[in-house]
Amino acid sequence: MSKVKYYYDSESLSYKKIERKKRTTFKYAFVFLLGSALFGFLFVFIASQYIQSPKERALKRELQNSQLQFELLNKKMAEAEAVLSDIAERDNNIYRVYFEANPIPEEQRKAGFGGINRYKNLEGFDNSKLIIESNKRLDILQKQIVVQSKSLDEITKLAEEKEKLLAAIPAIQPVSNKDLTRMASGFGMRSDPFTKVRKMHWGMDFTAPRGTPIYATGDGVVTRADNRSSGYGNHIRIDHGYGYVSLYAHLYKYNVKRNQKVKRGDLIGFVGSTGRSQAPHCHYEIFKDGQRINPINFYYGSLTAEEFNELLEHASLENQSLD
Ligand SMILES: [Zn+2]
Repeated sequence: MSKVKYYYDSESLSYKKIERKKRTTFKYAFVFLLGSALFGFLFVFIASQYIQSPKERALKRELQNSQLQFELLNKKMAEAEAVLSDIAERDNNIYRVYFEANPIPEEQRKAGFGGINRYKNLEGFDNSKLIIESNKRLDILQKQIVVQSKSLDEITKLAEEKEKLLAAIPAIQPVSNKDLTRMASGFGMRSDPFTKVRKMHWGMDFTAPRGTPIYATGDGVVTRADNRSSGYGNHIRIDHGYGYVSLYAHLYKYNVKRNQKVKRGDLIGFVGSTGRSQAPHCHYEIFKDGQRINPINFYYGSLTAEEFNELLEHASLENQSLD
C-alpha cells in the first residue's frame, strides 16, 4: 500500500493531497533500477578480484600440485645424475684403465647442446624457468647415458679381445712338472754340449724320458710340424696370434699336423732327442714379433710361487744346455 502524502495549502488553509504525475513515477523507477544494476555490476566485478570461484580454486590446486611434482622429479634427476657420474668415474678410472683405453674427457661426457634454442616453445610462461631447466637437465642426462653406454660397449669388446689374448699367449710349461726329470737349462749364455763353447741358448730345456707328452702352451695354429729346420730335429711351431709363436724341438713323435688348430694344454707331441740334442728333452722357445724371448716370464698360468722360484733358480744356473 502506497502512502498518501499531503501538503498544507496556506491559501485555502487546508491539507491537500499531493498528486504525482505517472510519468514522474516511471522516471524515478527507471533511475533507481539503473543505479541498482550499475552498483551490482561494480560489486560483482570488485568481489571477483578478491574472491575465487570453485573452478579457480581447483585450477590453482592443480598448478601447485604440478609444481610440487616437478620439484620431486628434479630431485629424482639429481639422484640419477649422481649414480651416472659414479659409473662414469669408475668407467674412466677402472674399466678403461684396465683395458688400456683412453678415458673419455669430461667435456665430451657432459657436452650440452649448442646452436639453436631448443626450448623456445617453452618460453613466455610463469613456470617457464622450471620447465626449461628440467628439460635441459633431462636432455643432458640422456646424452650422458648414450656416451656411457657406448663406452661400456667398447669395454665389452676389449674384454673379449683380452680373453682371447690371454688364451692365446703361451702361458704354461710344455712339459708337465710331474713328468719332468729336471729343468736342464734356461735362456741365456750357456756352454754348448757339443763344442763346450759358451754361446746363447735361445730357449729352455725340459729334461724328461723319451715319449713324455708335450702340451701346447697357448691357443693357436700349428704352422710347422717337420724336421726341416737345422738342429731342431722333429719340431713343432704354433702361431698364437698377437705376435706370439712357440717352438718345441727334438721331438720323438708328433701328435698334430700342420694347419691344425690347438688349445692350450692339447697334447701335440712326445719328448725325444732328434736333431742336435744330447739327451731326451724338450727344447722350448717363444718368439714375440720374430724375436726370441725368455720363456721363464710366461709360466704364471700353471705354477705355484714356490715352483716358479725353483724353476727360476734352475734356469739361471750357468750350466751346460742340451740344445
Ligand atoms: Zn735347448
